Amino acid sequence: MPGCLLSSNKRFKGSDPSGCRGEASPCQRGVLWGIPLLGMSGVFCSRGVTEGLDGSPQAVAARLRQLLPSNDIFCLTQVHADRIVWAGEVSPEDFPKADGIMSRDPVNVLCIRTADCVPVLLWADDSPMIGAVHAGWRGLSLGIVHKAVGLMRVSGARLIHVSMGPSIGPCCYAVGTDVIDALDAQPNLTLDGRLSVDLHRVATCQAHAAGVPADMIHCVQVCTQCNRETFFSYRRDSGNAGRNISLIGGASCSLPGLQVP
Ligand SMILES: [Zn+2]
Repeated sequence: MPGCLLSSNKRFKGSDPSGCRGEASPCQRGVLWGIPLLGMSGVFCSRGVTEGLDGSPQAVAARLRQLLPSNDIFCLTQVHADRIVWAGEVSPEDFPKADGIMSRDPVNVLCIRTADCVPVLLWADDSPMIGAVHAGWRGLSLGIVHKAVGLMRVSGARLIHVSMGPSIGPCCYAVGTDVIDALDAQPNLTLDGRLSVDLHRVATCQAHAAGVPADMIHCVQVCTQCNRETFFSYRRDSGNAGRNISLIGGASCSLPGLQVP
């Protein structure tokens, strides 16, 4: 299938996202990494899919409805908190204030918008349940990844996968001690020697603490701020930043740029 394979346990890359160069086709279509799932798919999209949009959930949803006219598209009004909603309890027209969404119906397409925060996609080998989470430092400090895994577990899933997409890396994510303390994180250093945190590491720890084994936690460790050509970055572009999108779901259809077998 098109799309570069999900990489795991790689160090953050400051440039040349792994597998992108040399595979012009998926990059041109705006999809960098696809997650092969049974009858559905998950993708972390590069900026091409949402180029020219203001990044609002309504604008993103409108574009996705053009690309996937036969699927229900769920976008959130993300507020850096820890509320997680279920598709079905909210409708595609709602744009609820929440930072996570789950679905028991894998035909639904769940969308998370990010511009440095970590997009997290969840699925299970023993259940059609899927989930998508927006995990910035505030959401992580509230334990949103742990909470999402816990919701899937109490809803019957056991063999849960957690996949984290491109976000700002510890190479660039300079923070104050307040953020480090809020996350109870090991401090890193940016390329220019300032204190930073590794959001992927924090999210990984939460997934692991919620019972997901290490070999079912996947990371695409590419830095959004370092890769201007490929990703939007709020830290780099400030108010002008668009939003990268990550999608999961779409059983029996094709997500943009990714053909489902
Ligand atoms: Zn970086």
